[in-house]
Amino acid sequence: MNAFIASIERMLSQPIAAPIDVVLYAIPAFILLILIEMFWARQRAPQVYEPADMRTSLLLGLGSTVSGALVAGAIYALTVWLYDHRIATVPYALWAWLALLLLDDFNYYWAHRTGHRVRWFWAAHVNHHTSQHYNLSTALRQTWTGPLALSFAFRIWPAFVGFPPAMILTVGAINTVGQFWIHTEAVRKMPRWFEAVFNTPSHHRVHHATNPLYLDRNYAGLFIVWDRLFGTFQPERDDQRNRYGIVRQLGTFGLLHNVFHEWQAMLTDMWNAPWRHKLSYLIREPGWSHDGTRESSDIIRARWMKARTADPQPD
Ligand SMILES: [Zn+2]
Ligand SMILES: [Zn+2]
Repeated sequence: MNAFIASIERMLSQPIAAPIDVVLYAIPAFILLILIEMFWARQRAPQVYEPADMRTSLLLGLGSTVSGALVAGAIYALTVWLYDHRIATVPYALWAWLALLLLDDFNYYWAHRTGHRVRWFWAAHVNHHTSQHYNLSTALRQTWTGPLALSFAFRIWPAFVGFPPAMILTVGAINTVGQFWIHTEAVRKMPRWFEAVFNTPSHHRVHHATNPLYLDRNYAGLFIVWDRLFGTFQPERDDQRNRYGIVRQLGTFGLLHNVFHEWQAMLTDMWNAPWRHKLSYLIREPGWSHDGTRESSDIIRARWMKARTADPQPD
């Protein structure tokens, strides 16, 4: 065992020349797991998969791989530029990889939380949430326009404190791969200790559900501890039947509509708004409006809570 750990330590102490895109390496495993889940669904829960929905998920995954590849060089160059101006130097070592895994997941939490609370970033993230189904293929609905929204800024700053750029982008890809398996209804609950520390299918189902109690909860990537620490944790409850998607469902499998609808809606709102409110349509939460004609998730949840206190029947 000691020899095994020593060999891993030696391996992780070697500098890597370029980021390793572990997402690409994981694709065969993604496909295999999706096939297994489809088989499970056919036997046990046929409503989990809908062919047109799955096709949109696959195409969104493909498109995000292409858009990611197009900008990867620029993001890497920017990370290297930050590293060139670093204030300290972190070596390649087992502890550094582990520390960065944790730090990057912390950064992911804030990037993701902002992705739900600031409409500019929501416009880029919403396509992860447009499916009304919850299965492993839903995980492939990754952003196309995230780079445009500059959301990577949340993740690359560790270069400035001295983490090597190739390590940062590799760990970012590991984080993405680590979030794949949680997009399933096939796993009810993991052991208690696991549910306490890690993000799980149960926690992430809450994140994808539009039940008022569940809106804007469980932003975690790999570790659920951030939600517990920062007050956004909501356990999945037996008295709630999960309804997946977004508050106002798209009602279409159209690919480009999935990707760009919120950008279009946001820019239209800005265009129509009085000058003093234009910026708010970019930086306020989704559902905010200057004339109070719409509802944010806070308003929806508050109303539900009030109704529930008056009539404590589960919804
Ligand atoms: Zn989200
Ligand atoms: Zn998700």
